[in-house]
Amino acid sequence: MNNDSLTPPLLPPATLGMLGGGQLGRFFVAAAHEMGYRVWVLDPDPHSPAGRIADRHLCADYNDAAALAVIAEGCAAVTTEFENVPAATLDHLARFVPVRPSASAVGVCQNRILEKSFLAEHGLPHGEFAVIRNEMDLADVPDTLFPAILKVARFGYDGKGQSTVADRGEALAAFRQCSGEACVLEKRLTLDCEVSVVLARDQAGTVRAFPVAENRHRAGILDVSLVPARVAPALAEEAVALAGQIAEKLAYVGVMAVEFFVVDGRLRVNEMAPRPHNSGHYTLDACVASQYEQQVRALCGLPLESGAVHSAAAMVNVLGDLWFAHDTASAQEPDWGQLFAVPALKLHLYGKHQARRGRKMGHFTALAPLEDAEGALHAALSARTAIGIG
Ligand code: ADP
Ligand code: MG
Repeated sequence: MNNDSLTPPLLPPATLGMLGGGQLGRFFVAAAHEMGYRVWVLDPDPHSPAGRIADRHLCADYNDAAALAVIAEGCAAVTTEFENVPAATLDHLARFVPVRPSASAVGVCQNRILEKSFLAEHGLPHGEFAVIRNEMDLADVPDTLFPAILKVARFGYDGKGQSTVADRGEALAAFRQCSGEACVLEKRLTLDCEVSVVLARDQAGTVRAFPVAENRHRAGILDVSLVPARVAPALAEEAVALAGQIAEKLAYVGVMAVEFFVVDGRLRVNEMAPRPHNSGHYTLDACVASQYEQQVRALCGLPLESGAVHSAAAMVNVLGDLWFAHDTASAQEPDWGQLFAVPALKLHLYGKHQARRGRKMGHFTALAPLEDAEGALHAALSARTAIGIG
């Protein structure tokens, strides 16, 4: 089957396949269920948050031939919620069912070398970088690249697989820790702020973007997202336009996110995610349709909703550290009553089996009238302190 041919929309109660069973997959399952679809989830984790609420959880590896045969047979279309699904799996399934996004689009986003090369080839703004495959490559890097960040090309997330390096010597030491994995070395930029755009693109090329989110990270992990972002309207427009260009050049069908750095008032693309994004969680509570509903719509060939927001929103990630806030050795359930008591605050917990430091366990979103982003931020940060996020 040609994955790109325009097919009639898939309507409920069709069964949809989801590769990956984390929180993004769980929200997809919930959205699809509300719309009347069934969802089968493939994830090797028996406690997978999405698997727990799916119509069927195939608990197997992403390249398990028997599990893929079950999906090819039983699902009318397949998508993914994380970028590390092997491109070969997506390619294989595309022989039997529509797979959106395509293996080639996901392939670019799942490898920092391909991703940066894609940006460079298409003249899209990005930070200075070098590809490091061996120690010789490091010797050739210009001094101006330092201080820098060495990132493994594959399988990094939430700041994992990254080392901040002051100079060539430190870069060499860090590279030696990477067991020969190819890396990119990025100049460490001084950021005014970070923003992201989540959008949906359908088979006909229609793009619907959500408003730009302003993102604050702590220790490499998203901490707070604020919408609307407090940036100049022209910069926000440019971010949406750049994200749309990227989606078009990838012939992307589905929901994707583009993370940007703002440096000296100008945008630079940081990275792309071929899936819904943590910074788009706010769309669950502040938008006409969430990023997960848009993912269902794009996958099924339904008309996309607009990305309109009806409220200002500030989202706070709840990491597993909160379970250990009192320096206890064993995890203690936080007092969620404190958050449920705050008006216009929406708590979402992902049903993860075990709390671990640095693990995303849930998030909450504070809402305020659309013109009052500062009010939403204030409410979210007060709640953050009250619950004990340090
Ligand atoms: P991940 O895949 O873990 O999200 P990123 O490349 O987005 O990896 O890095 C995580 C965060 O680390 C970024 O959102 C940003 O806050 C910081 N960071 C990454 N690269 C740079 C850079 N070149 N200069 C400054 N900060 C950076
Ligand atoms: Mg990132």
